Amino acid sequence: MDARCSRIPDERRGSAVHYTAIVVGAGFGGIGMGVALKRAGIDDFLILEKENGVGGVWRDNIYPGCNCDVPSHLYSFSFAPYRDRRIRYPGQEQILNYLSGVAADEGLLPHLRVGCPVSAATYLEDQGYWEVITAAGLRLMADVVIFAVGQLHRPQLPEFPGEADFVGPTFHTARWDDRHDLRGLEVAVIGTGSSAAQILPTLAATAARVRVFQRTAHWVLPKPRKDFGHLARAVLALPGGHHLYRQALHYGADTVLAPVMWRGWSARPVEWLARWYLRHAISDPALRAAVTPDYPIGGKRIVLDSEYYPTLAYPHVELVTAPIAKMTKEGLETTDGAQHRADAVVYATGFKAPEFLVPMRVRGRRGVELAARWSEGASAFLGIAIPGFPNLFLLAGPNSFNSAGSNPAMKELQMQYILECLRWRDRVGAAAIEVTEAAMENYQQWLEQAIATTVWPPASSWYRHRSGRVTNPWPASARTYRRMLDSYGPESCFRAASRRRDIDMTEAAASSPPRYLLNDAG
Ligand code: NAP
Repeated sequence: MDARCSRIPDERRGSAVHYTAIVVGAGFGGIGMGVALKRAGIDDFLILEKENGVGGVWRDNIYPGCNCDVPSHLYSFSFAPYRDRRIRYPGQEQILNYLSGVAADEGLLPHLRVGCPVSAATYLEDQGYWEVITAAGLRLMADVVIFAVGQLHRPQLPEFPGEADFVGPTFHTARWDDRHDLRGLEVAVIGTGSSAAQILPTLAATAARVRVFQRTAHWVLPKPRKDFGHLARAVLALPGGHHLYRQALHYGADTVLAPVMWRGWSARPVEWLARWYLRHAISDPALRAAVTPDYPIGGKRIVLDSEYYPTLAYPHVELVTAPIAKMTKEGLETTDGAQHRADAVVYATGFKAPEFLVPMRVRGRRGVELAARWSEGASAFLGIAIPGFPNLFLLAGPNSFNSAGSNPAMKELQMQYILECLRWRDRVGAAAIEVTEAAMENYQQWLEQAIATTVWPPASSWYRHRSGRVTNPWPASARTYRRMLDSYGPESCFRAASRRRDIDMTEAAASSPPRYLLNDAG
């Protein structure tokens, strides 16, 4: 199957290039959405992927040691459950294979176009369709557009003075270049988040020296063993064992890890565990003090890794806490004047997560630019829909990242909600639907109150937009998210236009005004 972008015009030669739905992105969100559409009987859709294959972050992140900190029984689709009795945490390659397998098994390949970045999507008011333009200039039309581009795919690359002087290779963890052999070299790793923690042990195993540049210490929890033990294998072999394990993980994460985001006592047991682990893993008091965070646990995403701390204590691994002042020909210079030699520099500096849908240009009714609406930070009703943008939906949209559990599971809930919206649109005989401003405002008010109860606002992290607004994580449990999706369906929070050209949606079909959303979390 030739899935290249250039095949689109050929297959529709002689007819309008029009689809019921266009899904943008072929990671967990896009693949899952494709399956959901197909199973709902919608077969006339395309999945456009900017890179040359499916997989999203699991295709991008090929750095040594890359794996997932959520067990695959939970980090997989409920409709294609992970069923390995030996390995709890598969590596990047296995997760990518899983996702590619789902795409193939579910018959998505004919719908898939890779190497096909979308540059713009515009709602054509006079026709009531979305016009989607690819970077190669292809023009496609769709009733519905679903953006499933994820939050963690555009590398954040700091700019240090003197970068051009540095003679060695530099690369970001998500743009790993394996043409460079780092064995026996002195390597600088900038950053101490999840990616740094995962790459450090593998680098340290073969490099002559590794210097880790820490700007802020992250909270670290030990990660269970990669493989299942005998008892777990025996339990998984029982009828329903895999399903029970998945449910236990889901409710366990929601009950134990989700409360860590809230201010007050609820985070204490987990913070106590993190402090105990720190004392247990690092015996050098100076190193221990240097990696002890000075903000509440949960303020940034917790690193789950059992090898990071022990590796930091190796004699050829050095933690540098002075801020980086500049790059030099031979390495990095910190603000205390110290020179740190490096043959190669690895940027484990994260992603431009708060810049949703960038660099695509998205225009809704009356030509409103989504970028302008989001200039102070992105927001969307339940992370899924935006007033003024009819028939447009998001997966993994603003404030829908689950910092404590499974994001594929969050996306599955969103997919079901989107299908419910489409079914409602058909039921009321509408051509276009969009969430009302009133529903959005009520939701936003609830969201801001919920965020104010969390530990996130003060700490700087990829959870926050430069304006200071927390735009990425969901501020409650996954249970609450499910309940809110169930309670605030399209019939009460969306309006509908009965005719395609009814651009102002004055003939709203929404039966009742949105219900009040405050005090809904728990
Ligand atoms: P990250 O958590 O955003 O960490 C970036 C690190 O780079 C931070 O330590 C940050 O310091 C540092 N940094 C950024 N700019 C810097 C600068 N100019 N100078 C010095 N340090 C700088 O990024 P990440 O580790 O790539 O992880 C991002 C997210 O991806 C994770 O939170 C997680 O959700 C996901 N992830 C998941 C897995 C998994 O196992 N499922 C694995 C990897 C990543 P500050 O803290 O001071 O900003």
